Amino acid sequence: MRQIKVRNLMIGRDCRVAVQSMCATRTQDIEATTRQVQSLVEHGADLIRIAIDNDKDVEALKKIREATDALLVVDLQENFPLAEKVAPFVDKLRYNPGHLHHLKKELSIEEKVQWLVSVAKKHDLALRVGVNCGSIAPDFLEKYPGDHVKAIVESAVWHCDLMDQFGFENFVVSLKDSDPAKVIECNELFHKRRPDVPIHLGVTEAGLLPDGAIKTRIAFEKLIPQGIGQTLRVSLTLPFEEKYKEIEEGRKILEDIANNRFISVPDFGKGLNIISCPSCSRVENNAFVELAQEIKKVTEYAKEHKFTIAVMGCRVNGPGETDDADLGIWCGPSTVTLKQKKDTLGTYKYDEVVPVLKGKLDELIEVNK
Ligand code: SF4
Repeated sequence: MRQIKVRNLMIGRDCRVAVQSMCATRTQDIEATTRQVQSLVEHGADLIRIAIDNDKDVEALKKIREATDALLVVDLQENFPLAEKVAPFVDKLRYNPGHLHHLKKELSIEEKVQWLVSVAKKHDLALRVGVNCGSIAPDFLEKYPGDHVKAIVESAVWHCDLMDQFGFENFVVSLKDSDPAKVIECNELFHKRRPDVPIHLGVTEAGLLPDGAIKTRIAFEKLIPQGIGQTLRVSLTLPFEEKYKEIEEGRKILEDIANNRFISVPDFGKGLNIISCPSCSRVENNAFVELAQEIKKVTEYAKEHKFTIAVMGCRVNGPGETDDADLGIWCGPSTVTLKQKKDTLGTYKYDEVVPVLKGKLDELIEVNK
């Protein structure tokens, strides 16, 4: 396995596993974001990700960069052309292969990746190819219908081939899903194909504590002892001032694995599964975290039933990432949208949606009796 470099941090062969988290503050709130970066550093974060969606975020990032020496990663999501503007202020760029098709449609995906690689080379940055179950590239979904694991792995391998073609080695790959079993499968399959490439591990939308940390641990305990996972993040839905708990949980899991302390949770995941995103600067209403907590509480009575409820913090990724859930909610500035699989059921105020969701859950339980 190769080693890669994020400024002065080496990741990969023989290096300790690096632990990452992400700011949940609004990026343009420079003071709050700088404070959060500082808090994460104090709790032992090796790398800190920040979401950037527009030029104002880039301006804010420039000021945050002046205020901290922390290793910063930018998450480009749909707006990959911002790479050039953010490059002078960060150490690593993350692009999502499933979001490259949205903008600059006149260019091929290969051309876009070649351009991202040229930006990384010019500024001596690392890259992450971040494949995510909720936003798999359409070409790969079409090619492997109904087989998300295959689509995720093939998409990741294809992007590694592009990196080879463009002569770039300073990158990691992540293959994330909200189901720990699929995270294990994807990462094992990818590692067999590309044992040379360091992997960033994570269970996406793992949800609230303690379940979110347990789901993550199930995947990490299986993968890390095999040498799969050179950086990691525990993605938890937390009030933004408690974001440091992602680092604490990550370090705890690593320490337990190093000391052969493994958990056994044979029944975990057999009943009601609540997934929720870890939130980031795209959250437009902080009531999202309380809503996720309330949903967990009021659905406790249904914990034996095998349904998935997804609660997502924004309208950027929320609509797509709730498609597979039996019931899904994505949050806007003052309202939330309730879905059943891909169908929208309605839009509600934050304080109105829980009884409606509970009614729908009761219907599902009744129909599936
Ligand atoms: S769903 Fe939206 S708010 Fe939640 S982590 Fe993803 S981009 Fe951020």
